[in-house]
Amino acid sequence: TAAAGPSVVEGPVTTRDGRRIAIVANIADAKDARRAAEVGAEGVGLLRTELTFLSAATEPTEADQRAGYAATMAPLRGTPVTVRTLDAGADKPVPFLAVAPEVNPALGVRGQRLFDEAAGDAAERSSTIGSADRAGVLDRQLAAVVGGAADAGVELKVMAPMISTADEAARFVARARAAGAEQVGVMIEVPAAVLNAPELLAEVDFVSVGTNDLTQYVFAADRQSGPLAGFNDPWQPAVLRLLDQLCRAAAITGTPVGVCGEAAADPALAVVLVGLGVTSLSAAASALPAVAARVASVDVATAQRAARAAVSSRDVASARAAVRDLLG
Ligand code: PEP
Ligand code: MG
Repeated sequence: TAAAGPSVVEGPVTTRDGRRIAIVANIADAKDARRAAEVGAEGVGLLRTELTFLSAATEPTEADQRAGYAATMAPLRGTPVTVRTLDAGADKPVPFLAVAPEVNPALGVRGQRLFDEAAGDAAERSSTIGSADRAGVLDRQLAAVVGGAADAGVELKVMAPMISTADEAARFVARARAAGAEQVGVMIEVPAAVLNAPELLAEVDFVSVGTNDLTQYVFAADRQSGPLAGFNDPWQPAVLRLLDQLCRAAAITGTPVGVCGEAAADPALAVVLVGLGVTSLSAAASALPAVAARVASVDVATAQRAARAAVSSRDVASARAAVRDLLG
């Protein structure tokens, strides 16, 4: 039988030569938060806020939302918690925010596009609620998140899903700051966001890569499709090349890059991400102890060699094999 791995994160986590890497959790509710605290997560890199909305027939009140966020974050008092604003649409349909049926919902009015003025006219015609009300949904959520974080005593960061351009990022940042958020970022999950990185990064305090969506959009392969599952693999060199490009742009602007998709849950791939320049890894609590131990076992030069090997591989199998050969 395999030796049991570490059961907790021995933080603060650094590489062997002292580069600080935040090992943080993906959570959706208070149970996840307690689990994250138990394993020694250094905070939360992705609080998915869809849970209360997915089952709601109408918008929860701001007070109810605030109480819910405070309860969810309470086990993580004193740590940094990154909250993602509502990511409705496609694989996360929210009944009261439904837009008229779209031929390709994953390419439709989803995530921040629902609340952003650029998509406003189109969404206005197709949504079951008007654009002013939709804008209010985001503003009330932002106010509830800021209040809930203060109640729970966490260090709040907020970020928006499905951002593609510098203008979308700037509009979100303005709204989040107006609600009282101090640290504001965006998710990188659309290839255009990477291609627009020099301008987009100038608008935000941090970015966090959602490799699940980024991979589906790089390959034009639905993340929920069984037959196309081979494309939806975070070891795909095409995805790693985009991450490389993003990290190079972020090194110039000095913007911290995190990863909160499935990629961060794989210890060997986590080393590759560190080698590319990622400084925050967020995954389900159960994955964190092994990721932390792996990251702590390498120095940055080794991680960079692993990153070069993976990025220059021709396919998933050779990327995995090359990194396994290097790391043992
Ligand atoms: C992602 O897309 O990688 C991500 C972290 O967000 P979600 O899986 O919730 O879409
Ligand atoms: Mg996503």
